[in-house]
Amino acid sequence: MIFDVAIVGAGPAGSSCASFCAMAGLQSVVLEREKFPREKVCGDCLNPSCWPVIKRLELKQQVWDLPHSNLGSVTFIAIDGQKVMLDLPSVADCEISVKRSLFDDLLLKRARELGTKVYEETTVTALTKNGHWKIDTASGQAFHARFLIGADGRNSTVARLCNLLPRPARERVALQAHITLPPNFGNRIVLQFLPEGYSGQAPVNDNQLNLCLVGTPPAISRLRHWAERQFDLPANQPWRTITPLTRSPVASPHQDLFFIGDSARVVEPFTGEGIYYAMRSGELAADAIARILKGDNHPRILRKFRRAHAGMYRGRLWINRLARAAVLRPQLGSFFVHAARINPSILKLLTAKITSAPLR
Ligand SMILES: Cc1cc2nc3c(=O)[nH]c(=O)nc-3n(C[C@H](O)[C@H](O)[C@H](O)COP(=O)(O)OP(=O)(O)OC[C@H]3O[C@@H](n4cnc5c(N)ncnc54)[C@H](O)[C@@H]3O)c2cc1C
Repeated sequence: MIFDVAIVGAGPAGSSCASFCAMAGLQSVVLEREKFPREKVCGDCLNPSCWPVIKRLELKQQVWDLPHSNLGSVTFIAIDGQKVMLDLPSVADCEISVKRSLFDDLLLKRARELGTKVYEETTVTALTKNGHWKIDTASGQAFHARFLIGADGRNSTVARLCNLLPRPARERVALQAHITLPPNFGNRIVLQFLPEGYSGQAPVNDNQLNLCLVGTPPAISRLRHWAERQFDLPANQPWRTITPLTRSPVASPHQDLFFIGDSARVVEPFTGEGIYYAMRSGELAADAIARILKGDNHPRILRKFRRAHAGMYRGRLWINRLARAAVLRPQLGSFFVHAARINPSILKLLTAKITSAPLR
């Protein structure tokens, strides 16, 4: 059988794309390396921009029903321990944190419920293009599709197999764990600058804290020791890990190949927007493919997709770059925290822009 669309990866990008493809009447298949539910290195925070996409997936109530925390504020902590606290918008569709095992599983179930064929524990290993795409997997099973979507994250196999993946630079590493929620932590995000990098913390339910550490490879073990002391963790605390933290974007040179989510562009995780970009780019790709298969002008639709994809980031990337500058030099990040203690208006403005922008 030749599917309309084969989607590699069932993170928020792949599963959202699959659901929107199914809603448009396309026959699609999702190939996912892991068995769900699975955790993922992430801060687990859902930016409010996600809500409109979640609504279009008809999952709003199901997301609210997942164990989660409503996040009311962000505390920035400088290297010397000085703090500044900013309120997040207290709106109905507020910023929440929810474990990726639960959120991603819900998105994948929705895709399956809408008719998508889903193959878990299925790792894509080779691609051939001969009129349509042939996708080989580690299990020996092959799949065929007219359109191929790389939704397989920052180290995208699809991009690598197409010789499009930028050279890996192990500039920084992230570690992540769910640990016992410290007493009286509160419903807040903590972004803490440390001499070796930074830490992000957010409660994900009534008894667990998401703890992320980000630093350069030589500094990461010092960050881990800091976390062990700070949160009284055992030396054998299991950590999930991921690298690189950022890399150059990947663009498709083929008319029938799309990259969405992190496989297309990885943003600095400090601002917690990756899940939104993943879901929305999945929606944009599904819409473009549905139009092309209906007979709309292929090059025109592709141009429109690329414009809309770039438009998602417009006006927001500069904040991301600022965040990146601050986290690469924690002293600079700490300077912002000190400055915000005297005049919080700039930090307030940046935080409001990230967490309340009315995106589509
Ligand atoms: C430290 C850190 C903290 C972050 N915090 C936040 C946050 O709080 N909020 C936020 O919005 N974003 C955050 N992000 C970013 C967010 O995690 C990503 O942007 C998001 O996961 C991207 O989704 P995706 O679907 O594109 O890719 P992914 O979620 O990475 O999913 C890719 C999927 O592809 C599968 N896959 C990979 N290779 C293959 C293969 N060969 N064959 C089959 N399947 C394959 C993987 O198993 C995976 O399930 C953070 C990132 C980091 C590193």
